Amino acid sequence: MPHRPCPCCSGKTFGQCCQLYLSGKAYPNTAEALMRSRFSAFVTGNLPYLRKTWHPDTCPDLSADDLDTRWTRLEVVRSKRGLKKSIVEFRAYFEGESGEREMHEISLFRLYRKRWVYVEPLQEWP
Ligand SMILES: [Zn+2]
Repeated sequence: MPHRPCPCCSGKTFGQCCQLYLSGKAYPNTAEALMRSRFSAFVTGNLPYLRKTWHPDTCPDLSADDLDTRWTRLEVVRSKRGLKKSIVEFRAYFEGESGEREMHEISLFRLYRKRWVYVEPLQEWP
């Protein structure tokens, strides 16, 4: 596991990338790294990590059913870093019934108790 490529497509190994965050050894210090680690959490089925990295005001009642999607790869399109708020645009690919499909999102992240957390999707790039 630690030596295979990281699911977030960073080009690093899982052990040198998102596994550090998913295991709790470290916490991502940018919203983009957090977003990547959350994608890896969806791939590896890590519900506790998804809850921990979701803003408590917007975190849904997650269950194992939310992890049914077979995610295949991730592309970060662009990101904008702020002091208390950051935005990351990405395309996440998954296996659909007739081949690969894509989910496009512009995500809002906020600093909450000194840590980046996912808030919600935005309609458009601000
Ligand atoms: Zn990664």
